[in-house]
Amino acid sequence: MSKIGIVGSGMGSLGFAIRSAVAGHQVSVFDANSYPGGKLAQIETNGFRFDAGPSLFTMPHLVDELFTLAGKNPRDYFSYERLPEICRYFWEDGTRLQTNAAPAETAAAIASELGESEENVARFLREIGENYHIISDLFLDNSLHSLSTWTGRKALKGYLNIPRLGLFNTMHRSHAKRFTNPKTVQLFDRYATYNGSDPYQTPATLSIIPHLEYNLGAFFPKGGIISIPRALHRLAEELGVDFHFNEKVSRITTENHTATGLETEKGNYTFDYIACNADIRPSYTKLLAQEPQPKKLLTQPKSSSGIIFYWGMNRSFDELGVHNIFFSDDYQGEFKAIFEDNTINDDPTIYLHISSKVEKSDAPAGGENWFILMNVPANEGQDWDALVAKMRKNVIEKLSRNLGVDIEQHIVAEDLLDPRSIEARTSSAGGALYGNASNNRFAAFLRHPNYRKAIKNLYWVGGSVHPGGGIPLCLSSAKIAAKLFAENA
Ligand code: FAD
Repeated sequence: MSKIGIVGSGMGSLGFAIRSAVAGHQVSVFDANSYPGGKLAQIETNGFRFDAGPSLFTMPHLVDELFTLAGKNPRDYFSYERLPEICRYFWEDGTRLQTNAAPAETAAAIASELGESEENVARFLREIGENYHIISDLFLDNSLHSLSTWTGRKALKGYLNIPRLGLFNTMHRSHAKRFTNPKTVQLFDRYATYNGSDPYQTPATLSIIPHLEYNLGAFFPKGGIISIPRALHRLAEELGVDFHFNEKVSRITTENHTATGLETEKGNYTFDYIACNADIRPSYTKLLAQEPQPKKLLTQPKSSSGIIFYWGMNRSFDELGVHNIFFSDDYQGEFKAIFEDNTINDDPTIYLHISSKVEKSDAPAGGENWFILMNVPANEGQDWDALVAKMRKNVIEKLSRNLGVDIEQHIVAEDLLDPRSIEARTSSAGGALYGNASNNRFAAFLRHPNYRKAIKNLYWVGGSVHPGGGIPLCLSSAKIAAKLFAENA
């Protein structure tokens, strides 16, 4: 049995802590916050409840498997339902589209509303599913830094399929070639934002992302997204994991380039192994300043951040679903503003999520809880007070225009997160939601590894390392790190 100390209690940490505890190790988790889950937090105001971070839950089996691994029934800890509807889309010219859980229904809706060939859309959805399996065998489920990943039968299958994976094309160009209506291109380009990237730069390989929603399903956990880290925290505690909340780690101690322990605001701890769940940038600059830095990784562009308005509304809107998108008329301009000019444009794409459509207790009777997210650049010292004020005005105008109602008069509760507060609450560099952006092949596929020989006995989990950000990939990072740990330790 080894003693393992973990920095942070985000999804990557919870997955790694549970796997390590099940393997018989003694695990201690330290978090600067007072709660488990990191970006999975909640906001309560004036009778409304909001999930502060993620709103879309995909691949729930990755959560379930942690309970099964521990010999428990996941349904004794949390439950979820598959949503019948994926998303409602709104364009300024009045075009409306609803995509549904059944891929055939989505293909039919895109054909009838956007004039695409139904067969072409259905084939696209099938192909991204096939590509997903090739990539997950090679990339998402394995360390790219293990020789076995590159030499097995699955790797050979991956090499043979490289031409179809779109490594040398951009996502936007690939979609523009495939579909006739620019709105269909925009719809599928949007998925680059699921890891904080720019569809006009990111490799077409990332076109697999909608497979998760359209083929595998969008899910809603009972009690909201917050119930996921709470359930995992409960399981981890039952397995003996020791949590230290409100205890910020100031240094990962090392000797001869080997991790030996943690220094926190409250004391010094010795461990056999450390796992780091904090974003790689502050981890290297603050916690591991004494060690050689992986400079190329630390200088890649950051993923996008978000401005999120949490609005309690005093009425309901039948034309809205759980997930809604109001598209910008200038999509390329929106991404240029974010990734080239470090600012926001005047016509942002708006993501509007309403959990109270499913979880009625999230809003007072007759009302709705609106979570409104716009992609924005990471914090580089911009004048966020001015940008937030401009964003608020533009969002109110755009939603009022599209819904035909002056929405401002219906806002009865309000809260806000912007890149500064996301950074302050989760220590992610610049408040970036997904670590580095995947705007080039290096950044997309060669993220920070889950283990580096340069600093022994130190494992890495979470959204800024391999295989990437988002709840499912953070859980995969924990699985890969646990496998490497079992092989090395
Ligand atoms: P984090 O959540 O980043 O947590 C890291 C933890 O480490 C924090 O609790 C922090 O306090 C702690 N920490 C850091 N440094 C220290 C230190 N020195 N000492 C002690 N503790 C420390 N993903 C999806 O799958 N679906 C979505 O719909 C989605 N939407 C999102 C919307 C928003 C607004 C945000 C913010 C994120 C969204 N994401 C979404 C991304 C997802 O939340 C993240 O990729 C994921 O939660 C990151 O988990 P993590 O394991 O990297 O840890």
